[in-house]
Amino acid sequence: MNDIDFSSEMGVELIESWGSDRKVAQSARVSTLGLDNDREKITGLVRALWRDGHFSPFESSGMTIGFDAPMFVRDQLVRHKSFAFSVKSLRYSEAAPKFYVPGEDRPLAQVGKALDYRREPGTALQQKSTRSIHRANAEGSWIDYDYMIQIGVADEVARNVLPPSLYTQLWMTGSLRSWLHFLDQRTDKHAQYEIRQAANEVEAIICENFPTTYSAWLGAK
Ligand SMILES: Cc1cc2nc3c(=O)[nH]c(=O)nc-3n(C[C@H](O)[C@H](O)[C@H](O)COP(=O)(O)OP(=O)(O)OC[C@H]3O[C@@H](n4cnc5c(N)ncnc54)[C@H](O)[C@@H]3O)c2cc1C
Repeated sequence: MNDIDFSSEMGVELIESWGSDRKVAQSARVSTLGLDNDREKITGLVRALWRDGHFSPFESSGMTIGFDAPMFVRDQLVRHKSFAFSVKSLRYSEAAPKFYVPGEDRPLAQVGKALDYRREPGTALQQKSTRSIHRANAEGSWIDYDYMIQIGVADEVARNVLPPSLYTQLWMTGSLRSWLHFLDQRTDKHAQYEIRQAANEVEAIICENFPTTYSAWLGAK
């Protein structure tokens, strides 16, 4: 049996980006200047476009991002319908034994009222039990999965016993507009801790690749 890998991290990597801050500005200027509109100054325009809700120029640029994340995070990512997805198949390939375990910084106790819950660190018992139960559950399910594969059960049936803490991999492709909307929702304090970890990394990628657009988005928050 393969060794089991445990992680508390979200793998997020830029696969490809297209367009640029300059292209956002050029795309907007087509409406007033036509095709020959490449100008040096773009910052004020990009800021005004985002602030005033002229979103379509932000659709001319975009990114494909690769995620290595637990299945419960994948389930939240694929709710974003304005993206295109490519997700690892557990029908046509075997799972890899990598499972999520909450890290020590991950708050475990839910307090407050519905729609406005707060999370607190949790007691020592909650901390210890949560991690050991995640590990035991992953190990037990992996033994069962591996056994079924060994005796020739189809991947698509054996996978049924694997928990949502199993890591999977996917590509998520969308326009800059969609990614900024994603950041609005998934860097917010109401978003689940783990998808927020992933969204914070997406935010850093946007900041690096589209700095003017990023600062326009940040300034309008
Ligand atoms: C904190 C949080 C809690 C959540 N809890 C739940 C939950 O308990 N249960 C649950 O089912 N989901 C839940 N969700 C998912 C949420 O309801 C959305 O499905 C998800 O966030 C994607 O948002 P979106 O549709 O705006 O984004 P996208 O799918 O990327 O769409 C972007 C935008 O395109 C437009 N658009 C997309 N599809 C349509 C359409 N069919 N018709 C018209 N306009 C469209 C909208 O303007 C939309 O905002 C939660 C999300 C968050 C952030």
